[in-house]
Amino acid sequence: MADLTIGIDIGGTKTAALIVDQQGQPRAESAWPTDATTPDHLLDGLNRGIDDLLQQAAAAPDDLLTIGLGIPGRVNQETGEVFQAVNLKLNHYPIAALLNGRFHCPVIVENDVRAAAVGAFAYLQQHEAVRHLAYVSLGTGIAAGVILDGRLYRGVHGMAGEIGHVMVDPEGVVCQCGQRGCLEAIAAGPAIARQATFLPPPVTTAAVYLAAQAGQLQAIALIQHVSDHLARAVQWLLMTYDVEKVVFGGGVTRAGAAFMEPLAQRLAWLREQSPLANEMLTEAKLDLLPADYNAGTRGAIHLAWQAQPTPTETGH
Ligand SMILES: [Zn+2]
Repeated sequence: MADLTIGIDIGGTKTAALIVDQQGQPRAESAWPTDATTPDHLLDGLNRGIDDLLQQAAAAPDDLLTIGLGIPGRVNQETGEVFQAVNLKLNHYPIAALLNGRFHCPVIVENDVRAAAVGAFAYLQQHEAVRHLAYVSLGTGIAAGVILDGRLYRGVHGMAGEIGHVMVDPEGVVCQCGQRGCLEAIAAGPAIARQATFLPPPVTTAAVYLAAQAGQLQAIALIQHVSDHLARAVQWLLMTYDVEKVVFGGGVTRAGAAFMEPLAQRLAWLREQSPLANEMLTEAKLDLLPADYNAGTRGAIHLAWQAQPTPTETGH
């Protein structure tokens, strides 16, 4: 019986995958280095990864109900094509059709951060009846995914939540998108590491956050600067979408309390500025995904489930 679903999260360096039954119970999981040397290498990696998961779950392609795939790039949900996936060197690449040709089940493709937002929503649903949230991915880049009334909100071009390339400092450094002073060029992982010239290389973002937590003055100043910009990004999301939660995830947030405390302090400062800010920016709206929860694969699974035809659509 075709009752298994695979969720895949393709990252710039690592691809993670999870296979679950119809109740969402994991049957197996795996991860492999992303090889994006050519599109064929990437596809080979996916084919092998899926074969391996099926084998681990003692299942065959016939047991697959559907596959969900999160990918760092822009996607066309209707055709299952990926375009402008710069880091993966993919453009107009029919990834859903290629996987469908081999595994003979529906393949749903979504931008990785949008998929992770769906995963973050599924995670929060286990604890509270939230209907609206923004998920902020903080890693090598910055982007948000927005869930409104329980559904992923993409916008006209699938760009809703692309806050990383909002200009926050017209005098700032040039971002890889060509613009000056993007949020991403100040507060993403590589930007934090680049600004931490006071630490011995190689600098990790975790090291900068921990140095600030330990009282190193230059690190404190840098993290305050970064947190100030992130707190304003939280404010944009809350004022733009009026969501119940802004949830953070991604590599930079693995610093845990060292990440959250300076951010919460900047939000507290914003709250003191006005009754409106005090009402909108409550601390309870801020959340952090646990480091061991993979929002990307879980979100891909939920999106794949949501795309399944309902019984009335199939005529049963
Ligand atoms: Zn930019």
